[in-house]
Amino acid sequence: MNKWVYSFGAGKSEGNANLKNLLGGKGANLAEMNSIGIPVPPGFTITTEVCNFFYSNNENYPKELNGQLKLALENIEKITNMKFGDTSSPLLLSVRSGARASMPGMMDTVLNLGLNDITVEGLARESGDYRFAYDSYRRFIQMYGNVVLEIDSSAFEELIECEKEIENIKLDTEVSAESWEKITKQFKELVKIKTGKDFPQNPIEQLWGSVGAVFSSWMNQRAITYRKLNDIPESWGTAVNVQAMVFGNMGDDCCTGVAFTRNPSTGANNYYGEYLVNAQGEDVVAGIRTPQNLTIKEKREQNSDSLCMEESIPIIYKELVGIFVKLESHYQDMQDIEFTVQKNKLWILQTRSGKRTTTAAVRIAVEMKNEELISKELAVSRIDPLGLDQLLHPTLDPKANKIILSRGLPASPGAASGKVVFNSEDAVEMSKNGEDIILVRMETSPEDIHGMYAAKGILTSRGGMTSHAAVVARGMGRPCVAGAGEILIDHVGNKFTVSNQIIKSGDLITIDGSLGEVILGEVPTILPELSKDFSKLMKWADEIRDLNIRANAETTNDVKTALEFGAEGIGLCRTEHMFFDSERILTVREMIYSDTEIDRRKALEKIAPMQKKDFAEIFELMKNLPVTIRLLDPPLHEFLPREEEELYELARNLDKDITVIRSRSIQLEEQNPMLGHRGCRLGITFPEIYEMQVRSIFESALEVSKKIKINIKPEIMIPLIISDKEFLFFKKLVENIAGKILEEYGEMPQYLLGTMVELPRAALNAENIALHADFFSFGTNDLTQTTLGISRDDCAKFLPDYLENKIIENDPFISIDIDGVGVLVSSAIKAGVKANKTLKLGICGEHGGDPKSIEFFHNVGLQYVSCSPYRVPIARLAAAQAKINNS
Ligand code: ADP
Ligand code: MG
Ligand code: MG
Repeated sequence: MNKWVYSFGAGKSEGNANLKNLLGGKGANLAEMNSIGIPVPPGFTITTEVCNFFYSNNENYPKELNGQLKLALENIEKITNMKFGDTSSPLLLSVRSGARASMPGMMDTVLNLGLNDITVEGLARESGDYRFAYDSYRRFIQMYGNVVLEIDSSAFEELIECEKEIENIKLDTEVSAESWEKITKQFKELVKIKTGKDFPQNPIEQLWGSVGAVFSSWMNQRAITYRKLNDIPESWGTAVNVQAMVFGNMGDDCCTGVAFTRNPSTGANNYYGEYLVNAQGEDVVAGIRTPQNLTIKEKREQNSDSLCMEESIPIIYKELVGIFVKLESHYQDMQDIEFTVQKNKLWILQTRSGKRTTTAAVRIAVEMKNEELISKELAVSRIDPLGLDQLLHPTLDPKANKIILSRGLPASPGAASGKVVFNSEDAVEMSKNGEDIILVRMETSPEDIHGMYAAKGILTSRGGMTSHAAVVARGMGRPCVAGAGEILIDHVGNKFTVSNQIIKSGDLITIDGSLGEVILGEVPTILPELSKDFSKLMKWADEIRDLNIRANAETTNDVKTALEFGAEGIGLCRTEHMFFDSERILTVREMIYSDTEIDRRKALEKIAPMQKKDFAEIFELMKNLPVTIRLLDPPLHEFLPREEEELYELARNLDKDITVIRSRSIQLEEQNPMLGHRGCRLGITFPEIYEMQVRSIFESALEVSKKIKINIKPEIMIPLIISDKEFLFFKKLVENIAGKILEEYGEMPQYLLGTMVELPRAALNAENIALHADFFSFGTNDLTQTTLGISRDDCAKFLPDYLENKIIENDPFISIDIDGVGVLVSSAIKAGVKANKTLKLGICGEHGGDPKSIEFFHNVGLQYVSCSPYRVPIARLAAAQAKINNS
């Protein structure tokens, strides 16, 4: 026979904390608490399987349920020595929903169930408190009316307000017994009017009504929406908890409250909570009266005059503290607890792991490990890696006022204030003068890199979470709000309009990239302070993980940030970013517009010293840590001048006619630049570009090695390789330069030569390529684009539909597509290692900073992941968790 109902009470429980799937979180923890000797009112849990049965059987219950429920109810009656529906000493019940994950939007709790016109008199006589009995009855009608009969609760509230006005009183606590009785009558009339039926007087009917309402609420719109937003499967179902009532509203020796065993916003090891004397249920949260503090410490901190629990009922407070300690050590985590005191007897009504800020999470995990409550591994597992973002970027001062102009996507976390600027040149200029800038663009392109870098934050009116602006901003650690569609940008007039407000260039705004908010004026921010606890947690993560963590970085600033955050190397140094610098771009264009190899070499000679300097700076900062430098990759058109003015400037510089420049521009245009003349195709056509880069790498390595007395061993990476023959072409090119260096300088740095694996053909030919390569670095951005045949920059139009319809589970540009791209990665690794036992393996796409993808990379045996500097701590933590979860 199926077991549909699990009882708990008087120390005996049929369930336990491991049965969360069956009993829901609340039910499983009630059973567990009861069996470890914590005072819990007796009750029972109807399982989530009943919920599933209910929905697959036309909203009917399993036939055994009635009998099992009756037995469980008798068990409560036995323990409490009271009877449900009894006219002299009635047992009252609470009915509460409880899914596996806590779910706002589900049915609210019904308290005081079992009261009717007769039992209320029994309750009054037995308690000797008429007012208490009618206060309880009116609460019941109100909750049942709202939750089960779906009558708007404001209708009930209005009647209470009306009576208070007549009696000329303000607080619910001042309402007299007679008034509550009168209100109770009015409530029943209201129910009759709204439903056409009398308020149910039969306690058993009330019970089934509430149970049915809980199961029905699983499919209400609020719950469906919440599940969708939080990826909770419908098949989980909810459980129903039925429990004997205890009363915090039976007089001044009664109270009800909520408590955290540690401070949930700072993590400090102090009890933290509030309670109300002579109150019931959600009065504390509802804000009807100002609650009192639990502890003297809190009371002092908040300058409160009213008595705290520690002062007013010290014996019960001590008992409660004993329970805090017991629950924390039992669950090995900070707990969020609900309690009620009835006539000086303490009852615990709920416990669960408390929600907390990342700051608190880190502190709690570290302190619990130090207290030897949890292991190092558990401490490391407790922190959500993505939550670390909160700690690494400046955030808005939560106490500040803000006027929100508009909202967009929270594309890159952190907050920033500054003057609005509409183009990258101005951004660079103004930031040189020390001004804080917010760059506002319809969308950004590679040309804007410098403007984005100079800006404190970026706001775009178009584009999604994986748009250029979003990806680059995250990489740079700049806050970004993307796709704020209500903002109408007038680039010519240098202003934008949003809901009738005009914001001109130079006006101050603030963006919050964690929330996607665009705010008028300047809002003070608070800088993150990386605590000792944070460093300690990171140290533990480092001790656990196998994966090495490198960073994608090319500017000295980024490299320094990466080192500060614990990067163990540079996995991707993009040489083209060095070309966009405003002083260099002219020379780069000179090279591109050259007609002959000779002219091109001349231009390249001017660029070479700058490249050398860049590389030298990075080598010097990184010392003996590995640095992988990728040779020129983007399509040339990204460097081309766009504005008329720039075209003329270029013509002047090259001493050519403007028409010649124009026609060359047209020549360089491509239909599909992503698959056009880019990557190592450039190196095939213009080997002199790569030769210059390789020479600069070697020369700077030699220079720095001498200077800092550490042998620099650069890693040279060829982008977009498709075959071994192609790779061999570059191997020869590199060896040729190496030979020349040896001749000229009498020495040559040791180096590695490897390739990006970022096209399906390279992955499929991995064995042949690996015969000649020292390393593979998976470029999962392009590999995703080319494997799926989906452009990252255009997919915002249709990818949401794929996600919505669950055709694709995760955005493949955020979390690696394990079944497609992942298959190519793991087979390329196997084939590569087969051909070359010492092949080094890493990844340098955006996925290198995504915890889900990091777990995959750990499992397929990569040696390192490389991500943007601000993601390094996230990757370190995620790599440790990957190890813990898979060993
Ligand atoms: P939520 O999931 O919103 O926290 P709960 O089911 O925990 O809802 O209940 C809401 C309120 O009702 C809580 O404040 C709790 O203290 C109170 N409550 C629930 N069951 C009982 C009971 N058996 N006796 C007294 N109060 C109860
Ligand atoms: Mg609630
Ligand atoms: Mg609760």
